Amino acid sequence: MAILHPNLASELASQEAKTFVEICVHRRVLASEKPKTLFLKRFYKTISTIKWTLILLCLSSFWACPANAQLQRFEFSHPQMGTLFQVIFYAKDSTVADFWQKKAFTRLDELNHVFSDYDDCSEITRLANAAGRNAFLRLSDDLWKVLALSQDLAQQTEGAFDLSIGPLSKLWRKAFRQQQFPDSADLHVARPLCNFQNIELDQRHHAANLTQKGMRLDAGGIAKGYAVDVLFDLLKKSGFKHLLVIGGGDLRVGTPPPRKKNWTIASKVLGPDQQVIDGELHLKNTAISTSGDTYRFLEWNGQRYSHIIDPRTGLGLQHRMLFQIQGPSSTLCDALATACSVLGKEKCEKVLEKHYPRYRLNVLLWSGNGE
Ligand code: AMP
Ligand code: MG
Repeated sequence: MAILHPNLASELASQEAKTFVEICVHRRVLASEKPKTLFLKRFYKTISTIKWTLILLCLSSFWACPANAQLQRFEFSHPQMGTLFQVIFYAKDSTVADFWQKKAFTRLDELNHVFSDYDDCSEITRLANAAGRNAFLRLSDDLWKVLALSQDLAQQTEGAFDLSIGPLSKLWRKAFRQQQFPDSADLHVARPLCNFQNIELDQRHHAANLTQKGMRLDAGGIAKGYAVDVLFDLLKKSGFKHLLVIGGGDLRVGTPPPRKKNWTIASKVLGPDQQVIDGELHLKNTAISTSGDTYRFLEWNGQRYSHIIDPRTGLGLQHRMLFQIQGPSSTLCDALATACSVLGKEKCEKVLEKHYPRYRLNVLLWSGNGE
């Protein structure tokens, strides 16, 4: 529809009033005419009135409708879960944008209180504190969803992804802080406590029981992706479709910015000679997560140990890798990227093919043995 100037709207309104007056005048004149001609003339006049009424209605909705208002870009950030979360979306004014960014980040704070194993009062810590007491605790929807998905993934990856990695990740976090290899006696105690088969789920009541005393859960490999999905869904349901949410290495985008074909994201990419370089990704309506070689590692006796742990050995991964997983859900991209770092390229591709055909692996760096 052509965009009309407001003055034209009032002119049209007066034209419509004129048409109405003309009909009244014509009614009197036409009273003496033959019934058939009279009927046709009345019919055409009615159509004309409806036409003008519709034009006026369209015009008034044009001026009132926020969807047609000029959209502006808004960007907000909030530190949480040990990283920086960012949301970018297009809205018609700053009051609306500000209201919804606050809602989104309040929800993010709530999620941190569910998933953070650094927080003594978080839900995941309370669950760990009940370990070994043979007590099923009812879980919030958020923890239930993440726990249920993690257990599926643990089965599908033969334990490469394991939410019960907590006792080992506690030792490795200390090792990174102190730049010292973990004590072997501590590793010996922690290793058997890390086993997803010791997490029991009650599907009916959405409850869980950790069977061994000393167990701890670590959602570091999945919770950021889950938070990205939660924020994305919240903002999308609130009417923002040109939307991007980032939480560290996890990202989800919706419809591209107005008049753009894609979101352009700065990222590590593969260069022409297959080396990792700084580049750009062009994305829409998808999620992507990157896992692997980061700043968090320990160099000890000529070996490099990653913050991603192989549950079979209890050690940080020693192969170099940088894996990206792309697919519809950020939760799954995040968890799969962590799991695949442990599995290696070939096993990862088999898991994706069998269980997650809508997800795809992009290998940026891999020094494994092809296992
Ligand atoms: P990401 O950066 O998403 O790859 O996640 C790495 C984080 O996941 C680590 O810092 C640990 O908190 C956690 N993690 C480490 N190893 C595993 C594992 N084998 N399974 C599940 N989570 C893990
Ligand atoms: Mg991950």
